[in-house]
Amino acid sequence: MMEVFNTHDFIRTIINKDLSGGKHTNIVVRFPPEPNGFLHIGHAKSSTLNFGLAAEYGGRCHLRFDDTNPETEDQKYVESIKHDLKWLGFDWGEHEYYASDYFETLFEWACALIQKDLAYVDDSPEDVIKMMRGTVTTPGTSSVNRNRSSEENLDRFHAMRQGKFKDGSCVLRAKIDLSHPNMKMRDPLMYRIRHATHYRRGDQWCIYPFYDWAHGQSDAIEGVTHSICTLEFAPNRVLYDWYLDALEINPRPQQYEFARLNLEYTVTSKRKLLRLVEENIVDGWNDPRMPTLAGYRRRGVRSQAIRLFCESVGTTKVDSTHDPALLEHCIRDDLNHHAPRVHCVQDPLPLTLTNCSKDQVEYLSAPYWPHDVPRKGTRDIPFSRELLIERGDFSEHPPKGYRRLTPGGIVRLRHACIIRCTDVKKNEAGQVEHLFCERIHQPDGEKPRGTIHWVDATYSVPVTVRVHSRMFTEAVPDGELTDMLAPSSLTEYTQARIEPSVSNDAPDQRYQFVRLGYYWRDPQSPSIFHCIVPLRDSSSKTKKHSKTAAPKTDPPQTSQPVLTADEEEWLRKNQLSSAIGLAIYRVPGGRDFFEIASRSAPPTSVGNWMANHLLPTLGTNSLADLPFGPNKFAQLIQLSQHKKAGHHEIRTVLQSMFESDESPAELLTRVQDSIVQDPGTLKQVIGDVLKEYEDRVQAYANGKVGLLGFFVGQVMKQTKGKADPKQVQVLISEELSRITS
Ligand code: ATP
Ligand code: MG
Repeated sequence: MMEVFNTHDFIRTIINKDLSGGKHTNIVVRFPPEPNGFLHIGHAKSSTLNFGLAAEYGGRCHLRFDDTNPETEDQKYVESIKHDLKWLGFDWGEHEYYASDYFETLFEWACALIQKDLAYVDDSPEDVIKMMRGTVTTPGTSSVNRNRSSEENLDRFHAMRQGKFKDGSCVLRAKIDLSHPNMKMRDPLMYRIRHATHYRRGDQWCIYPFYDWAHGQSDAIEGVTHSICTLEFAPNRVLYDWYLDALEINPRPQQYEFARLNLEYTVTSKRKLLRLVEENIVDGWNDPRMPTLAGYRRRGVRSQAIRLFCESVGTTKVDSTHDPALLEHCIRDDLNHHAPRVHCVQDPLPLTLTNCSKDQVEYLSAPYWPHDVPRKGTRDIPFSRELLIERGDFSEHPPKGYRRLTPGGIVRLRHACIIRCTDVKKNEAGQVEHLFCERIHQPDGEKPRGTIHWVDATYSVPVTVRVHSRMFTEAVPDGELTDMLAPSSLTEYTQARIEPSVSNDAPDQRYQFVRLGYYWRDPQSPSIFHCIVPLRDSSSKTKKHSKTAAPKTDPPQTSQPVLTADEEEWLRKNQLSSAIGLAIYRVPGGRDFFEIASRSAPPTSVGNWMANHLLPTLGTNSLADLPFGPNKFAQLIQLSQHKKAGHHEIRTVLQSMFESDESPAELLTRVQDSIVQDPGTLKQVIGDVLKEYEDRVQAYANGKVGLLGFFVGQVMKQTKGKADPKQVQVLISEELSRITS
């Protein structure tokens, strides 16, 4: 049920322009991991973007190991990164590079800068250098070493390289501008001394380049055209360009930034993930609870689902944090057509069919794809007098509306027969221990309350089932990690039983355990099955899948962007979070637009709607190109304030404002009416409702057809009762049969 995503984003706009304008004839991008940990879901986003662009434009994507920190890097991480990228389906051919292979060139280029008097050796300790760089509001101060002659600097730099100095005794700095408003430009560090063994270069080097010096130059050496990194590097771009200018490199790469991928309840920082591994909080980098690619793979997630997720979140310039439900949705969507349905009982309760004979076993033919009728394939399930059902499918004192087995009640055993519970046996503690039931052939008038799954007690196979839930209790786990660990993120069912058809399966076979979720066998311990994803949302929230930056809390960023004094002041004055505030501040005309609109609408709403919905539509256009101004935008925001319109409607009105010069209020009336009259718009509302209640759609696909009424009700609510319920019902049925087939 996943729609085709609009993959057109601002990066593709830039590339199209560069190709059509003749700036480039071929696209070269790179994915530059540092081999200091395993790849996580954020890296999946970045690699999907870069390798995706190369494939789409017939260009190249290099794999470059950004290995300039000897203390933390290791060959084992190089291997794991390559393995994970291949698993994702990416191929870099012969273009596997290492920044550490460029140490000689970088050294020569540094000497060239020294000769141009654009770099110098500073003997000040690193903390003094840091202090002397000043603050965003005060300029930095020169070090006494800043005016050394080029000859002296060159001698010292060679001495540094030859190992004549101890760690930390001096550094090489670029000579730029100590009062530059961008702190990155205040004579940044280029090299430091580290007498450490590098996993590739051994002890050949004792000076190591810093990121900014190594990265852009590596891009230049490889002929990269578009160097795409995450938003926190935006302030580094000036320095990136300065180094290329100073070296007179031509043609030159250009840096572009996009928003990091963040997931709620998930840590995406290798440093923090490493802690979980080192402190044995998890069982290695590939623990199925880890947000690493190795973890997802171990859990049974297919790489197709990860790529689908990365494509579906899009590429924007606004930081946002996604609900893990969106990833789960992609995983289900992928597995739906790859996982045959079978029966497993996780938490068994024995049941005897008293009116069946003792030694009789039947083999019932059951379809693997009951929801997908044209698709063939069946297996035989043994069925005898002794069965097992889920403990949770029986209730002695059922709540109202309970649709499973109760004393005296009848249910259907999926693919078998209808039964009535005639007796309940309890243990001394009063717990239900065994059920006695009768097989019913023709219930007279009475309908089964529901359909439950089961396995045969004798002929099923014992297995252990592991269900993993989220590791953190906080949506944004950015404080002390161990304080936010969920008390139990692993539930183990050691008494689980599975139908015998599952015993001789292919190694990477995934299943849907009917009514439970998607599962697969652990590749290392064949008697263990992992729950890849449950059928229902594991989150208790009923909100929309993706949440863009909210005004109350700053979106998580592993490193805060470096703000200039003016930016800081402006953000404070307008009480905007840094992600939203900077998105507005850094777009030309953004401040004026925001300030004018805020005169007639609440500033936080203006900020949110601008950053999350207006700016992403701009692409390479500017605010001045918009067909409407800040006052009209404020009128739109006011509509959302007075509860005149829902979020979805406001977004539709915003879209119409690009084509029509009617007022937002007039457009809203049209939008609200058209929802009722136009089947196209009605279908959109239906699509949204089905997406929101995706778990119920699954339940519907599994036979709960009574849910149709629920869906109709939701759509009627969305249309404020104006739509024709009969038409709604027809459209929903059509849509449901389309997405569940
Ligand atoms: P971490 O904080 O986990 O160590 P990193 O950025 O230091 O991440 P790198 O190995 O340097 O890790 O990252 C390789 C590439 O992946 C870089 O281009 C980086 O910008 C990108 N990347 C890392 N994390 C994310 C994320 N959460 N979303 C999108 N891209 C990311
Ligand atoms: Mg990095």
